This record gives sequence, structure tokens and C-alpha cells, in this order.
Amino acid sequence: MIRQYDLVETVKKYDPTADEKAINRAYVYSMKAHGSQKRASGDPYFSHPVEVAAILTRYHLDSASIVTALLHDTIEDTDVTLEDIERHFGSEIAKLVDGVTKLSQLEIAGSELKQAENFRKLLLAMSEDLRVLLVKLADRLHNMRTLRHIKKPEKRNQIASETLDIYSPLAERIGMQDLQEELEDLAFEQINPDARSSIIKRLDFLRAAGQSLLPRIIASLKKTIADTGLKADVNGREKTPYSIWQKMQRKDIEFEQLSDIIAFRIVVDDIEQCYQALGAIHGAWRVSPGRFKDYISLPKPNGYRSIHTAVIGPDGHRIEIQIRTREMHKLAENGLAAHWAYKDAGKLANGKGEADTPQYRWLRELLDIMEQAEGPDEFLEHTKLEMFRDQVFCFTPRGDLIALPHGATTVDFAYAVHSEVGDRCVGVKVNGRMVPMQTGLNNGDQVEVITSKAQTPSPDWLRFVATGKARARIRRFIRIQHRDEYRELGRAILDKCFRQENHRLTHKAIRRAVETFHAQDEDDLYIRIGEGRLSGPEVVNRLFPLKIDPAKRTKSRKSAVINKKANGAARTETGISIRGLIPGMAVHYARCCHPLPGERIVGIVTTGKGVTVHTIDCDTLQRFNSMPNHWLDLSWSVDDVAEEMHVARIKVFLSNEPGTLGDLSTIIGKNGGNITNLRIAHRSLDFFEMHVDIHVDDVRHLTDIIAALRASPIITSVERARG
Ligand code: MN
Repeated sequence: MIRQYDLVETVKKYDPTADEKAINRAYVYSMKAHGSQKRASGDPYFSHPVEVAAILTRYHLDSASIVTALLHDTIEDTDVTLEDIERHFGSEIAKLVDGVTKLSQLEIAGSELKQAENFRKLLLAMSEDLRVLLVKLADRLHNMRTLRHIKKPEKRNQIASETLDIYSPLAERIGMQDLQEELEDLAFEQINPDARSSIIKRLDFLRAAGQSLLPRIIASLKKTIADTGLKADVNGREKTPYSIWQKMQRKDIEFEQLSDIIAFRIVVDDIEQCYQALGAIHGAWRVSPGRFKDYISLPKPNGYRSIHTAVIGPDGHRIEIQIRTREMHKLAENGLAAHWAYKDAGKLANGKGEADTPQYRWLRELLDIMEQAEGPDEFLEHTKLEMFRDQVFCFTPRGDLIALPHGATTVDFAYAVHSEVGDRCVGVKVNGRMVPMQTGLNNGDQVEVITSKAQTPSPDWLRFVATGKARARIRRFIRIQHRDEYRELGRAILDKCFRQENHRLTHKAIRRAVETFHAQDEDDLYIRIGEGRLSGPEVVNRLFPLKIDPAKRTKSRKSAVINKKANGAARTETGISIRGLIPGMAVHYARCCHPLPGERIVGIVTTGKGVTVHTIDCDTLQRFNSMPNHWLDLSWSVDDVAEEMHVARIKVFLSNEPGTLGDLSTIIGKNGGNITNLRIAHRSLDFFEMHVDIHVDDVRHLTDIIAALRASPIITSVERARG
């Protein structure tokens, strides 16, 4: 384990301005916090954060990253809280440590996540400050280096395959080749030790056999380039056992010669020289087709730049060559971490705006890299990542991951957990604190939903929920609630109708009514009545046909008709059939839409004319859109139903044949409708278009008439006339 003094010295060597005090304080703080905790190896736990910090010094990371590495497990594994960290080390460090802690929690949830790719993207999205990710990767590297101490082989295998599935591609994604390769090798050793050792043996053999070959190829490459007047470093780098194995798996081949396993590198000063060197190589040897790639003009998504080519080189050996500048070389080795070196962080002190702080610059750089994607696959990858950025990832107290769209609130979270949880949600704790329900969620929030059986969804929630699921559930609930209202209304109507005819609404009577009208059950019957699809008096009539007082019904119908004639529109007097009216104000039914009981209605108030009742879907209402104070929210009342007749207008197309008009009026009459007006709107050789005004009880009555007309062969089409 690296000592405190050595760690500080190492950092100071590459960053003379490093915050020495902060590193020392973090070192001691972490040591105290972890106390006597032990690693699986038996080492003090504290050795782990120190080693993670040491790994990061390899990438010359700034002191904030080193401090974060030292503290990275304190929140998760000790009594230390985020508030403690913030108090002692400030908000920047607190944010970084919090980020790493959240990634660790993700790791716990991770075993249940099916798709490694999604998880990888999640990690990337979660680490808004990529230093968080760098600390996390260093953490994983140290855990992999000490993997052998874990007793259970299944656990070791799980960690190793997680490393291959998630962490090494992530390291590759941000261009940290060294770290990626070490992670892969350690995982390979755990998962397939036999394959690894046989590849290593073969490598040793080839290396021994080709001892003179390698220097000969390098010398030959050097001379070819030197002949053009260029200065270049040329070396050969052995591919890793894991990458060879992958290639063997992928292409189903075996590697045969040393040149298969060595990539030769030509490193020059600038880009122009890269192409000069390429020209020299291609001029001297025959190009091996299909292997040329120019990642200088089109860098890889992770920022990697180099020219790749393959030639049939010295002595007829096929060799792979990478050509790059020194700067590109550094980036290829250390990836984005190369950008995070102390000297960039130092620029922060020069008082540049927030947009120029390293975090932002980093994100920008990453995005630039994504944007330079090559080909449709990488573009897709990039687009997916973009989409990803529009999401937030939160956790349940158990560590389950819930992904939500950007802007989602605690209520969306509750519904995402389970519909029931959403419906019964009374309060929410985010990261342990009670918050208002409309609180927006951030990446990594831990959300605890408090439920109560007495709670029901509030229509108010519709104002702020962001997910379709929450919206649909809340709406559904409101609909059901309306159903309850209709049921109560229907029950009240039926009860009243029964009492008017001196009957009692007994269970037996209700059962008979349910049967007679083919209702599903008692509630269904009430709802149909409440919604106006079935009239209360009709139910009484059918159940007690002999006991109706015909005079009473006729009288009431007549008076409605008289009313209608006198005023030109159905005018309600006392015993109004509509709720929500202003007392004393005249009421008309609009002639554009002819509203019927059972339909959703609104009133429009006009001076001198009173209230005109329209159906909610009437086109005329558009004219009043800008006058909300003229609108009146109305609904049909309990007391109505058969007291009053209503005019409905239908549009009928019927064939121009003798007797068709007679048939039309017969069908309407048979179904209890009374034609009050009839007009031929169009007439052709074959067809009439008729507009028919009919007196009906309610919308249900009209629907029955329309259905009967549609069933007749002489009638081509029937619809409700509007406007
Ligand atoms: Mn750790």
C-alpha cells in the first residue's frame, strides 16, 4: 500500500499546485472512518481507497479526484454522511463522492439488469462529471486486482463477467486503453484461465522463435521512413491475450505467426508527417486490402485517432501498422483521462465562466466525440446516448432501478414502481427527506413512496406528471369515480321513479330489472340510468306494465310539446331537467346540435337570450372559445328523464323508391319516436337526403331509433345531424 507521504509526493510531482492539505485531510479522514474494517484479503479496508487514489495518479488526475478516491467508500460503508463530507471538504468533493456512491448503489442493483449495454450507458449518463466515472473505474480495477481473495468462485465469476460486460467497454468508450486491457486480462484470468494460459504459452513460443524477426521488421520500417527524411519512433506492441482470444473467437481462426500478434506503431510529430509516413510505407510494400482505416480524418467515437494499415512487409510477413502523432498516442493510451490532467484543472483558477469549468468542458468534449461518430452503427450508438441523456435514473429503497423521462416527478416514480403504489401515494421521501409530490427527480435519487390505503389519485396530479403511465392511471381513476357518480345518480333516479308509481325498490325488483334489460349487474343498471342510456320510468313500465297511469304520461308529454311549440325551442320551466343553471334565466336547446339527456352538455349565456344548451362537441362552441365567462357547466338532472321530450335531428339517405318515406316514418313510429319535422335536403334520381326532427326521451332512445333505421334495407345511411 502506498503511504500517505508517497501519495502526496506523487501528485505534487505532476501537479505542483495540488491541494496537498486536502489530500492529507482526506487520507486521515478516510482512515479514521474505515477504522478497523477489513478487506476479504485481511488487509485493512483503508488500503483500498488509497490504492484507488494511487491508480488515479497514473493518469495525473487533479487533487479533487484523488481526494474523492480516498473518500469514495465512506458514505456507503461507514457512518459518514454526505453532509459530513460537504462540511469537511466542500461541495465539489461532496458532489463527486456522492456520484461515486450512487454508481456503487447502481452496481448492487446491476446484477438484476439484463442488458449490459444499457447499464453501461446508464453509468455514462450518471457520471455527469466524468471524474466520477474515472474514480469508479479505478475502484473496479483495484477490486479486480484483489479478486483472488474473494472466497466463493461464483462471486468471482460474477464480478469478472460484469467487468467484461460493463467496465472494460466503458473504459474503451472513454478511450482508456491501458485500464481497459488490464481489466480484461484480470477478468479473462478468472473466467477462462485455460484459454489465457495457452495463448500466453503460444505467445512465448512465437516470441522466442521470432527473436530476430521483430527487430528486423522494426529496423526495416525505420529505414523506409528515414529515407523520406522523417523522424519517427517505431515500435511493436504485442496484442493482449484477451484481444487475441476475442479475435480467434470472432473469426474462428488460430494465430500462426508473430506478426499476427504485434501491432507496429509509427509515432511522428504532426498530422502531415502521419500521411507522409503512410505514403512511404505504401510505396515500399504491397498493401493488404481491406485493412486501411483513417481514424485521423474520422476519429472513433471515443476520440481515438490514428491511421491503420496492413502491408505485406519485410520478408513477406503481413504486418499491421498504426501511424499517429505523439499527442494522439497519449490520448490512445489514457483516453479522456489525458484531458483531465492537473494542468487543465489549473486553468479553472483563471476566472473563466462556468461554461468553461472542466466539468462542462469535459461533457462538451465527450459530446464532440459522440458527434464525430463514423457510420450508421456508431451514429445509432450516439443517438441512443442522446436519448439516454433525456432520462433520469432513480432507485427504490431496495436499490431497484427506475428509469424515467426527464422532468418526471415523484408521482411518476410511484406509478413506475406499481400502479397501486401510484394510486395510494400520500407522500414521498427523496434521499431521506419528505418533499412535495410535484418535485422533479434527478439522476441517482433514492425515492421512497409512502402509501395509504385510504388515498386515491388526485386530478391535481395531472398538472405535473410527465409519464403516460401515470397520466393514464389518474385519468382512469377519474373515469371510475365518475362511474360511481353515475351509479349513485342512477340509483336515485330509479328510486324516485319507483316511489312516484308507489312501488318499492326491492332487491327482487332490481334483479328483475337487471334481467329484463340485460344489464351485467345492479351497478351496471344504475350506471346506464345515471348516464341516461336507460330511462327510469321505462324500467318501471316494463316491470309493472299494468300499473302505469297512461293519462299522466300523455299529459306530461303533451305539456312538453306545448312548451316546445310556444317558444320555438324546448324551454324548461320549473322542475328543470338540467343542473347548473342560473335561476330565473330562460333556457333554450340549441338547434345546431339538439342536445339530449345522457349527452355531455354546456350552456352559453347571451344577454337578452338566456342560456343556450349545446352538446360539448358542437361546432358552434368554437365561436365562444375566447369568451370563457359566457360558458356554463351543465349536466342533466335526476328529476328529468320522461317528463320532457327533446328534439333530435337525423340525416337519412334513402333510396328513391315508392313507399320508402312511409317505411321511414313507420320504423320511427314503431320505436316510439314522433316525427315533428321532415325536410328533403337533396334529391337525386336514386337517393333522397332527408333531415328528420324527432321527439325522443333521451340519447338512448335516439340511438335505438337510429339502430332500427340502419337495419332497414331501404335506408342507405343514418347519422345524427349537427349544425
Ligand atoms: Mn470501492
